[in-house]
Amino acid sequence: MQELTHYIGGAHVKGTSGRFADVYNPATGEVQAKCPLASVDELNHAVEVAAAAQPAWAAVNPQRRARVMMKFVDLLNRDMDKLAEALSREHGKTFPDAKGDVQRGLEVVEYCIGAPQMLKGEYTDGAGPGIDIYSMRQALGVTAGITPFNFPAMIPMWMFAPAIACGNAFILKPSERDPSVPLMLAELMEEAGLPKGILQVVNGDKESVDAILDNPIIQSIGFVGSTPIAEYIYGRGCANGKRVQCFGGAKNHMIIMPDADMDQAADALVGAGYGAAGERCMAISVAVPVGDETADRLIEKLIPRIEALKVGPYTAGDDVDYGPVVTAAAKANILSLVETGVQQGAKLVVDGRDFALQGYEDGFFVGPHLFDHVTPDMDIYKKEIFGPVLSTVRAKSYEEAIGLAMDHEYGNGTAIFTRDGDAARDFASRINIGMVGINVPIPVPLAYHTFGGWKKSAFGDLNQHGPDAFKFYTRTKTVTARWPSGIKEGGEFNFKPME
Ligand code: NAD
Repeated sequence: MQELTHYIGGAHVKGTSGRFADVYNPATGEVQAKCPLASVDELNHAVEVAAAAQPAWAAVNPQRRARVMMKFVDLLNRDMDKLAEALSREHGKTFPDAKGDVQRGLEVVEYCIGAPQMLKGEYTDGAGPGIDIYSMRQALGVTAGITPFNFPAMIPMWMFAPAIACGNAFILKPSERDPSVPLMLAELMEEAGLPKGILQVVNGDKESVDAILDNPIIQSIGFVGSTPIAEYIYGRGCANGKRVQCFGGAKNHMIIMPDADMDQAADALVGAGYGAAGERCMAISVAVPVGDETADRLIEKLIPRIEALKVGPYTAGDDVDYGPVVTAAAKANILSLVETGVQQGAKLVVDGRDFALQGYEDGFFVGPHLFDHVTPDMDIYKKEIFGPVLSTVRAKSYEEAIGLAMDHEYGNGTAIFTRDGDAARDFASRINIGMVGINVPIPVPLAYHTFGGWKKSAFGDLNQHGPDAFKFYTRTKTVTARWPSGIKEGGEFNFKPME
């Protein structure tokens, strides 16, 4: 059995706490590795190593820091297949999806090559007689990030690339369910020229997260994961005086207007609802057709598409639509919510409960499910299922449809499918949700824009990546300078030696 490590001070370090988490191959259900769970002492040691290394890194000029990012991009491309394979093996997502995971992280690294431009600061020449004002953005020191299982390459890179480009050291506490890729990324950063101790990977669970929250050296914490943990980390981190941004769960609605291209809408729903087994915070989990006729047409188009989905292990080829979910517990939770949906009166029009894959009976595969006639009081509507389950809530009008999305406690992403520009404009303007798609089902902004939800999907003031990341990972210092003039009228320079 492979025993994974931490990555501290530029070396793989064995865990010493004696505690481990099982890392599964979700396709077979086998435990394939043990992930060490750090103690408070192990975490604090990593922070000390980072704190010792950080000032020299902050003193490296931004262009040289950017060159490390440039080289890192090359190495990510060189090792793309290797990274994607390790990712699929622990997470279960298809090989193309795993490459997409690396690619969307890589794009943020590319954006961070612009660090010299982003960190230039501001200058006012002549704010008063002989007075100039300038603002500079300085690194925070040691920063930390706690990441979820569902994007084990992308989300760590969304955090550590801008943090490090800004001159910080970064402690990454990845998900204990798929920790191998973050360790590989740390190795690649060092191969790209990053000094030892600037990026540390400390594997762990609640114990190491609490140690991050309470360590006085750590200046900022980024978190991505479920909402209850996001709220906890935001509260305790802020109470300890840290800068914190937390991104939580989601229940993303897609509104289908009667004038929508129904084939396009059905294709979009299948990709956005079932891709990556629904384990995406930007997955569409609620379809809201407007009018019964629209709903009937949509369901009729969805059923054959969903029934044709190919579910399988990543090793079965690139035409697999989605793989297993991450753990047996995740599978049990999804199936129990499906049962609740049936009991509470929703109509299960595609039933994946008996799904089994020959040769992979112990894998964590879940068949696709489609519910119709879901109502807002049902658990399957209120809770994030995070699996291949799409709920249809029929709305009588556009107003009812937009009201549903607005009243839901989550506010990560949403979409509207229509040919009516006015409806689309109204929707984008009024909706209280952070990321909006117009005939685009998964509106994840590109690296140079920012990513973040509203309501219970995000806590904190700044979004991830884009210009916000450079604000989150630096603090502003503003200098007001006045120099007494030595130049006399007529141009003569009146130099007096210092007394
Ligand atoms: P999770 O909340 O279980 O775990 C996230 C991280 O928190 C992990 O590193 C884990 O070790 C740690 N953690 C877990 N329990 C903890 C506790 N009690 N105390 C302290 N730390 C704890 O989330 P997950 O299952 O890994 O990821 C799925 C969730 O993440 C979904 O809710 C999904 O919507 C959300 N997500 C959100 C975004 C976003 O940008 N909004 C992106 C991806 C995933």
